[in-house]
Amino acid sequence: MSITIVGGGISGLSLAYILHQKDATLDIKVLEARERPGGKIWTDRADGFLCESGVNGFLDNKPTTFDFIKTLSLEPLRSNDASRKRYIYRGGKLHRLPENPQAFFLSGLLTPCGKGRIIYELIAPKGRQEDESLASFATRRLGREVYEYFIDPMASGIYAGDATKLSLKSCFPRIYELERQYGSLIRAMIRLQKEAKKTGKKVGPSPGGVLTSFYDGMETVISALKEALADRIVTSKRVTGIDKRGSTYTVYTEDGQSFETEQVVLACPAHDAEKIFRELDPEVSGLMKKIPYPPVSVVCLGFRYEDIEYDINGFGFLVPSVEGRKILGTLWDSSIFPNRAPEGYVLFRTMLGGARQPDVALQDEQKLIDTVLSELKDIMNVDVRPEFARVYVHEKAIPQYNVGHSSLVNEIKKRIKERFSGLYLTGNAYGGVGFNDCIYNSYKLSDELMNDLTRQ
Ligand SMILES: Cc1cc2nc3c(=O)[nH]c(=O)nc-3n(C[C@H](O)[C@H](O)[C@H](O)COP(=O)(O)OP(=O)(O)OC[C@H]3O[C@@H](n4cnc5c(N)ncnc54)[C@H](O)[C@@H]3O)c2cc1C
Repeated sequence: MSITIVGGGISGLSLAYILHQKDATLDIKVLEARERPGGKIWTDRADGFLCESGVNGFLDNKPTTFDFIKTLSLEPLRSNDASRKRYIYRGGKLHRLPENPQAFFLSGLLTPCGKGRIIYELIAPKGRQEDESLASFATRRLGREVYEYFIDPMASGIYAGDATKLSLKSCFPRIYELERQYGSLIRAMIRLQKEAKKTGKKVGPSPGGVLTSFYDGMETVISALKEALADRIVTSKRVTGIDKRGSTYTVYTEDGQSFETEQVVLACPAHDAEKIFRELDPEVSGLMKKIPYPPVSVVCLGFRYEDIEYDINGFGFLVPSVEGRKILGTLWDSSIFPNRAPEGYVLFRTMLGGARQPDVALQDEQKLIDTVLSELKDIMNVDVRPEFARVYVHEKAIPQYNVGHSSLVNEIKKRIKERFSGLYLTGNAYGGVGFNDCIYNSYKLSDELMNDLTRQ
């Protein structure tokens, strides 16, 4: 049986690997457009610094990811304990993000009014909309300040998104369900904590978990997959179109080659899958085009430790959009994981752009570095030139799960299922944007593919 997977990011590679583990006789091919597989995962090493150009880690709360890593004999590395200290910028200062209700009420991050408003959450009416923006949900339940200083920065930290457009249901389905089930998030938390005490299981409304990576960075997992899949991965093969005759698909690549296959999985971003579908099914292509991918740039700067006066023993900070700054946030990477900067140096990683400020991400390299330096001077009083700098521009970075996203995805999948048996979609545009989601979806899709194969 032949399976061709289009796209060698973590979604395509993990799927190929899981399928190969399930049945070593399957004829699997991963066609990757670029010279290297990995997609948004690429670890750049230079001058003793280790820079993540895209994906920085994953939360340790998904057992499937750990099962997956175990089969590759990799050793995960949890972030340092100090990285529990996270900060939010407000009014010229970094405020520690409170970790419990007591810290919340003592925190200077919100005004007394903003804190008091949270009590109303207990009696705020349930939402009536089927789908609602994060901004609308958070303002309705928790008040404007909690929205501006907790929810909005979280939306930019995960999605580089605009919380007035992102869908609660698609981005945080657990919270959406909790409101439906309990009518109030505070009531839900109290109930869940009671249950947790009884069962000994940790449960909560937020994603939780500890940021995890590898000593040599996230590319460790890509290198292991490359080794395991060997010549099943074919690089520099951009797929331009697909054709179906009978039960066989022909996959065409930019260099004029074609591949016959019984099953095809598109594991590339929706904005690329859209092009592949243009001739095959313009309607599917049109639907895929509706998923926006704003640009994000990542600027890594290395400084001498002694030049930084600020206490950087923590995770870093996020900037709420209401503060009107030019960066989304900065992670103090060398405080989060070991082996990110040479002895006596620190590494900061700053994100810019996203849905709210796409033009900021698309400035030239020097402008991006200057923007970050000027922001770090204002926010952390960093007043020296960096010893090291690297810039990574993602012109189409993270798919935005805006209001209506779940209906859009259902429509795309329904149409493909009806018209193209043997053709499947995966990747972070559809069932969760994170690394953990990609792995989880690969296990799920591998089951579906194997079932379909045995039925044939
Ligand atoms: C800056 C940034 C930071 C991020 N940080 C994190 C993080 O810390 N943690 C986290 O969980 N998630 C993070 N993410 C989200 C991350 O993108 C996903 O977790 C995951 O890497 C997506 O993998 P994927 O395989 O679905 O897509 P991609 O990584 O985009 O891979 C798709 C692959 O398809 C290939 N391709 C495209 N078109 C074609 C074609 N026509 N033919 C053949 N191949 C094609 C591409 O070249 C690419 O290799 C981040 C994303 C960005 C942009």
